[in-house]
Amino acid sequence: MKEIIKTVCPKCGQEYSGHPSLSRVDNQTLVCPDCGTREALESMGLPDEEIEKIVATIHAQQVK
Ligand SMILES: [Zn+2]
Repeated sequence: MKEIIKTVCPKCGQEYSGHPSLSRVDNQTLVCPDCGTREALESMGLPDEEIEKIVATIHAQQVK
């Protein structure tokens, strides 16, 4: 039996399950995978528009 732990992301307020990401902002806060991806892309200097496209692409690949 697999236990699903739901966590609320402190950054975007969304409930998520699965592996959290460590926030790059303080290296302490656990954020949802989306925010982790966003922070990683932001740190690469990508524009918001581009980041949202990538996040949407990742979601499209996830099978629920
Ligand atoms: Zn989040």
